[in-house]
Amino acid sequence: AAEAVGIDASMGKNALKSFQIANDDPRTTFKDPSLLGTRAFIGGKWTAAASGATFPVHDPEDGEVAFHVANNSRDEVCQAIDAAQRAFLEYKKFSHRRRRTLLRAWTDIVRANRDDLAAICTLELGKPITESYTTVDYGLSFLDWFQGEIERLYGDTIPAAKSDNRIFTVREPQGVVAAITPWNSPIAMALRKVGAAIAAGCTVVLKPAPETPMCAIAVAKLFERVEGYPAGTLNVILGDAASSPAIGEEMCQSPLVRHLSFTGSTAVGKYLNGECGKSLKKTSMELGGNAPFIVFEDADLQKAVDGLIASKFRSSGQTCVCANRVFVHRSVIAEFAQRLEATQKKTFVYGSVWDPKVNFGPLYSQRGVNKVAKHVEDALLKGARLVSGGAVRQELGPYLYPPTILIAGENDTTKKDDTPMLFMTEETFGPVAPLIPFDSEEEVLRLANTFQSGLASYFYTESISRLWRVAEALDTGMVGVRVGLISACEQPFGGIKESGMGREGSKFGVEDYTNVKSVTLGL
Ligand code: NAD
Repeated sequence: AAEAVGIDASMGKNALKSFQIANDDPRTTFKDPSLLGTRAFIGGKWTAAASGATFPVHDPEDGEVAFHVANNSRDEVCQAIDAAQRAFLEYKKFSHRRRRTLLRAWTDIVRANRDDLAAICTLELGKPITESYTTVDYGLSFLDWFQGEIERLYGDTIPAAKSDNRIFTVREPQGVVAAITPWNSPIAMALRKVGAAIAAGCTVVLKPAPETPMCAIAVAKLFERVEGYPAGTLNVILGDAASSPAIGEEMCQSPLVRHLSFTGSTAVGKYLNGECGKSLKKTSMELGGNAPFIVFEDADLQKAVDGLIASKFRSSGQTCVCANRVFVHRSVIAEFAQRLEATQKKTFVYGSVWDPKVNFGPLYSQRGVNKVAKHVEDALLKGARLVSGGAVRQELGPYLYPPTILIAGENDTTKKDDTPMLFMTEETFGPVAPLIPFDSEEEVLRLANTFQSGLASYFYTESISRLWRVAEALDTGMVGVRVGLISACEQPFGGIKESGMGREGSKFGVEDYTNVKSVTLGL
């Protein structure tokens, strides 16, 4: 059975655990066990680490080791980069029509296996199955979009100053892309990065987060089924950066890698960007956020509540664009808190992550629970008042931290620059909505823009002039005006300041993987 599913059973006593859970559980629709794997994908071949090294992947339900996955060495990263470079030399000659046909074929295969991908995501991440479907569909929307963008990679003709010259530009693929993804949305992140890079004509070495390697492996297994890509167009390298720093080092140092695309924490992004700077590699950095969510006194309060529920509590608060600091005008904060509490009570259903009715799941790990608990404790110590939530609901599992609402209160210490509450300066990455009163537009804009993160922001107002003014004044890459969900395939996604640079999705997401070449013709 182990061989049949591509897993070496000797890799651990629980190596088949997730597979068995999936098949024994009548609520799952897991159909194709061959999508599970524990090996790297290099040059079109699935391989264990030559050294035999592995790292453990934990079952999010009980924290036990579920799988042991290949832990690749620097040599294997070099092999993957070499394979991607060889593939690039062939793939870059493909016409855009051929690239589009191949991408459409991969998209179709991914869509046909959407049930299994959602199931793997739930197994590996502990997300409710409905949320897993949402992330798979979100990833698929990018593959659909990028197909069209392949045919819109236009150049320009430029009027030349000299009468006997003609100038035009073309967009060319950059070459080998190293892509590093986080654990919180493993399938969508892999599809968004790989889809854009191959749409542009690049080849890819993907390194998923060590917490969620199976999602990337499944995506690559589906890629392998497309006939026509040169071997090595997509490679998957596995490793835990803590025990294998050489993986990141090689991706940054190799002269063959022309673009490093990273999604993850600001600290790691700064390190990788610094290393890439040594060889002037292009980087895309999608880093952490600390989104302000502002409710003005003239807002439609119920609309704002609904927006906050979507922005703050989806994925249990574990997305980079989640609202983190909720500023509510002092005159409406009591009513807003009441409505928020009532609406969240009506909205969320708890229970088995396999039950399609369940729409609120556990945090991914004890580490996540600890961080959320620390932020809540810190806020309470500094004078916040707890409206609801505030402790793990053990009866629903060790990581089920419920939607939590706090009011930073009248004795507000958040405005004292020396002792800001932790959620003011750090991403909580959990389902905590701290409501902070404010009195004027000027004050709230100062608070919203104070910190170095600049990914997303949201605000609610019914005033047209304020709508323009505030949208322009917020220092973030993305602004949601009277909406709580702001990511879609057709719009550019990314931050400014310490939230990163580069854009994913939209035409910019594909253009990011191209170089503009300017050609001058002498007549
Ligand atoms: P992380 O930075 O710890 O890890 C992200 C990835 O980087 C993982 O694959 C990890 O193995 C790898 N990594 C870590 N150190 C490395 C090194 N030295 N060399 C090479 N790779 C290395 O982040 P995480 O905890 O997995 O993800 C959560 C963070 O990601 C949050 O801060 C969140 O805001 C951010 N995030 C940002 C976006 C965005 O688009 N802006 C999207 C999702 C998540």
